[in-house]
Amino acid sequence: MEVKNKIVIVTGAGSGIGKATAIHFAKHGATVVVSDREMATATEVMTHILTSGGKALAIAADVSNFEAVENLVAQTVKEYGRLDVIVNNAGIGPNLLRTHESSLHDWDKVIAVNQTGVFYCMKVALVQFLKQGGGNIVNIASLAGLKASPNNISYSASKFAVVGMTKSAAMEYATKNIRVNAVCPGYTQSALLDQLIAAKPEMDAILKSVIPMKRYGKAAEIAEAVVWLASDNTQFITGQTITLDGGTSL
Ligand code: NAD
Repeated sequence: MEVKNKIVIVTGAGSGIGKATAIHFAKHGATVVVSDREMATATEVMTHILTSGGKALAIAADVSNFEAVENLVAQTVKEYGRLDVIVNNAGIGPNLLRTHESSLHDWDKVIAVNQTGVFYCMKVALVQFLKQGGGNIVNIASLAGLKASPNNISYSASKFAVVGMTKSAAMEYATKNIRVNAVCPGYTQSALLDQLIAAKPEMDAILKSVIPMKRYGKAAEIAEAVVWLASDNTQFITGQTITLDGGTSL
């Protein structure tokens, strides 16, 4: 895949899908800014990439903090002179409560990270992309951004918003050599899924029963699609959502 020498930021890259994506970009010759709100896990992933012969830099950033996002992009551009790709992956999980039981705090927290955080990252990256004449955004939405997701109101709202922002921004910048796409994973093995199952162990069997392939996705399988969308192999694709869910949405 043609991502060699691209400068790529992956948010939430300390774990799960973000970690797999950072590693996959590096395998294909990209320089990866491994960003997470947790510096320790970002550093671990950076070290893994460096010791495997790849190029990486860890930068801590909480995507729900606008100044932190500005600093993330500014530091990247200071170090490498440009930014080619941003993968907006950082996200927090479902609460498994019905809408009337959801707390205001949960709503604000999930929207701040999953929705406003993606907006902040898009806004700041787009300023840089317009300056340099192009760029590429891959947002990590979810099956929950395409289909009903009961007991999940804040997560559902935030992921539908990510799909909407992806499509709207794709149209705005289509003539500016800037592409914006989203990946919608179904149930994928990660800390986020582990937390969900730990909160309600019966969910494991319930979830697997609705997946036609009868297994969870692997983070590396999602990473393949993200790197492909960010590559020069997909230059006519913009505003799309690609679903990787073992057939769940069928
Ligand atoms: P994960 O919990 O393994 O990883 C999420 C990472 O994001 C963690 O490293 C965490 O520290 C980081 N993070 C959380 N809040 C942050 C913030 N405010 N700023 C910066 N970093 C932050 O979860 P995952 O499953 O790999 O999730 C990655 C993305 O994939 C999320 O957007 C999630 O909604 C989406 N997703 C996951 C699944 C699934 O089944 N695992 C399905 C659909 C979509």
